[in-house]
Amino acid sequence: MGRQKKAARILDTIMTNPFFAKVSPAWQRLLAGIPSQCEVCHAWPAQRLCEDCVARFARPRLRCRSCALPVPVGVTHCPQCVRQPPPLDACIAAVDYGFPWERILSAYKFHGDPGWVRTLALLLRSTPWVEPALEAADWLLPLPLSAQRLRNRGFHQTLLLARALAPEKTDAQLLLRVRDTPAQSSLGRAQRLENLQGAFALAPQRLLEVQGKRIVLLDDVMTTGTTLHTAAQVLREAGAAHITALVVARTS
Ligand SMILES: [Zn+2]
Ligand SMILES: [Zn+2]
Repeated sequence: MGRQKKAARILDTIMTNPFFAKVSPAWQRLLAGIPSQCEVCHAWPAQRLCEDCVARFARPRLRCRSCALPVPVGVTHCPQCVRQPPPLDACIAAVDYGFPWERILSAYKFHGDPGWVRTLALLLRSTPWVEPALEAADWLLPLPLSAQRLRNRGFHQTLLLARALAPEKTDAQLLLRVRDTPAQSSLGRAQRLENLQGAFALAPQRLLEVQGKRIVLLDDVMTTGTTLHTAAQVLREAGAAHITALVVARTS
């Protein structure tokens, strides 16, 4: 067995040992940060996510231009968006929410592993239409977290991602989360909408900065889209000219 393969196997054994996982998050983080082993297929040497895995799990696919759900060839908008156009001018997703992105995004978001930010930014940048959307944007606005959630989590994962994508256009003080709400994932579709009423607002002294502007709203995962739509509505009412939602993963 080659030295690199052997090292990868030892590392794998350590990482999957439940005792290790339980008692030593610091060690786990340290090992997870060791460069040059793909976290998905454990190829070695590799980037945090190797090229083979990106090619395999991030294959671009045709998506509805308004909601990013997969559509067949020749179709630009899904039937749902034709019937009821969402308050977005465009919607772009890099990947489907599933293996391995589910695991990666949760490691990024909940386990305090912001080391993924460069990989995720690269993934977004290589998604068709993302570069032109960022290029044309006046503002890149991360979907805001409530103050309470920010305190609990210790960092704002979407803000870090926005800064990695377009630092000069990123602003986390323009669109604000003015009300904390229960996690959307715990609610049904109708409740989600109600849950978010009045959750977002623009910084009062900066209302004019949105007028006539092109805005990219950034989030990590899009499920029903209710959260992005609610935020987009606030921007629309303030006179935004064009709103694109950009997400890493889209549930289908
Ligand atoms: Zn890999
Ligand atoms: Zn659609």
